[in-house]
Amino acid sequence: MGKKTTHKFKAEVSQMLDILVHSLYTNKEIFLRELISNASDALEKVRFQATTKKDGSEAGKDEIPLQISISSDKEAKTLTVTDTGIGMTRDELMKNIGTIAHSGTAELARLAEEGKESIDALIGRFGVGFYSVYMVADEVTVITRSADPDAKVISWTSDGKTDYKLQELDSKPDEDMPRGTRIIVKLKEDLADQFTNDANLKMIVNKHSNFINFPIIIGDGQVNTVSALWREPKFQIKSEQYAEFYKFLTYDSEDPFDTLHISVDAPVQFNALLFTPVGDGDPFGMGREDRGLDLYVRRVLIEKQNKNLLPEYLGFIKGVVDTEDLPLNISRETLQDNILMRKISSTLVKQVLGNLEKIAKDNADRYAEFWHVHGSLFKAGYMDFLNKDKFGHLVRFNSSVSEDEKGLSSFAEYITRAKDDQKEIYYAYGPSREALGLSPHLELFRKKGIEVLYLYEPIDEFVMESLRDFDGYTLVSAEHADVSKLDGFETLEKEEKAEALSDDQKTTLDAMLTRIKDVLGDSVSEVKPSQRLSDSPVCLANPDGQVTSSMDKIMRVMSKDTSIPTKVLEVNPDHALIRNMLTIYKKDENDPFIEQAARQLFESALLLEGYLTDPHSLVGRVQDLLTKSSGWYVKTTE
Ligand code: ADP
Repeated sequence: MGKKTTHKFKAEVSQMLDILVHSLYTNKEIFLRELISNASDALEKVRFQATTKKDGSEAGKDEIPLQISISSDKEAKTLTVTDTGIGMTRDELMKNIGTIAHSGTAELARLAEEGKESIDALIGRFGVGFYSVYMVADEVTVITRSADPDAKVISWTSDGKTDYKLQELDSKPDEDMPRGTRIIVKLKEDLADQFTNDANLKMIVNKHSNFINFPIIIGDGQVNTVSALWREPKFQIKSEQYAEFYKFLTYDSEDPFDTLHISVDAPVQFNALLFTPVGDGDPFGMGREDRGLDLYVRRVLIEKQNKNLLPEYLGFIKGVVDTEDLPLNISRETLQDNILMRKISSTLVKQVLGNLEKIAKDNADRYAEFWHVHGSLFKAGYMDFLNKDKFGHLVRFNSSVSEDEKGLSSFAEYITRAKDDQKEIYYAYGPSREALGLSPHLELFRKKGIEVLYLYEPIDEFVMESLRDFDGYTLVSAEHADVSKLDGFETLEKEEKAEALSDDQKTTLDAMLTRIKDVLGDSVSEVKPSQRLSDSPVCLANPDGQVTSSMDKIMRVMSKDTSIPTKVLEVNPDHALIRNMLTIYKKDENDPFIEQAARQLFESALLLEGYLTDPHSLVGRVQDLLTKSSGWYVKTTE
């Protein structure tokens, strides 16, 4: 027997253990799920190694059966999980259990610290790996023998506090432990009954580990189903079986929103089982690392969460793909630019998009549910040029005709509502439905009853810019709309038209606009009468041929440009304020009110566009005007 040595846990492991030991998490049984899943990974590695052997000998050809067995001892209050997997050498043992808390646990510790979510909810959701066993254990012993032919049997023991002990055992390894890992859990007093009861253990395995790819033995029988559900004929599978498999795969507690079972024979043979979760699965914004489909070759797991099978914008989909056509010994590196993989991928994408189209067609409410959860990610699909057409049918936007901000419109629906001669689909970007509802740029559209799609996220504009058109209709930013085209459409309500300007007033207007331009100087490129305004006195417009103001803003943020862009100030000659200004200007060209009003109108317009950085002078002027006008008000009502 080798010498017993004592080693301290690394700080992050200690921290993790401390959290787990003190956790009040009630669903402690998930520790078994974690141990079984580690055992299964270790078995997959043996199978994988065997399939990639140069001599071509097959998996499981040596007599050691690939399996997991669970036994318990009521007297000793122990539970033992044994696998015939890859095992660990002394170095691996030290590195894997003791040094690094796996990525999930590190993240969990961080989130627990932030305190946004209770630690208990986090444990259930992520799975915390090996260490979760300390929720139920006073002490754990790991006895393991690596598949490496010269490997010794090593024992690891710890009470999960500050350190662990390592020892090389010289028991007759080949009989007792040919290969693999045995985990002996000394149960806490109050939990011993619960976890030494075979019936209860079977129930736990069925609940959390039913679809593990290797037999799980309790007593004298196999407990789990060991079924590659994706390879079975669709008509034989019940929806509960799909749901059960989905929960096993994702740890989600809800049934999937949608299930897609695919069997393809050409151009590549493969089966796939794809799920769309109800929630977005990323409640903590941990990023999209947790995406990808598990790739199997003839039921052998080749890679978990493969990232090449589906593009990022379909990253909400969970599931498995199994193909006969790839060689078993394919390396993960060559998978990346493998032509078969690309064929599988393009077929999968088509199927997924086709399925979404079907949902949208059959049940718009159900599609809206999908869209509100996964739409934001899905919109990144504008980069998938090969599927541009399908994508165009699947994107949704809130619209000026929607009842509220939840309402959605497709391009196709927009077209059914478009005016007879309208060949454009108009859109506008804004911070909210309220803001867009009041935007001066959309006044003409409101007046003519022309629908405008409302964009709230920066990515929306990229979607529009890259699609450019849909079914013969051009996608046009309302800001850039050709006013002469809109003018042709009938006005909805006959508003009281302001009296037309007399020739004399027209001359005064020209002069006053020149004066306003002088006042504002280089902050505007031009001051001109507007065709599009009805309720607002002024608005800022882009000089011809420029990008939309929101796109401009994004580009400025990217280039750290904080200057205010130079725009055209459009003035509404029919607005009461402008008419008053004309009267004042006519009386006295140098009346200070004109200058004050010009600055005020310009800065208010900047404010609306989100460009005003210093509100001081604007606020000062408002107060000055209010003081004066209240004075007049008092006088006139005396
Ligand atoms: P994770 O499984 O997420 O990596 P764990 O803390 O559960 O995190 O396990 C850490 C590592 O210990 C595993 O990645 C694996 O290398 C090793 N390990 C755990 N259990 C076993 C086992 N039964 N057989 C072989 N290796 C194991």
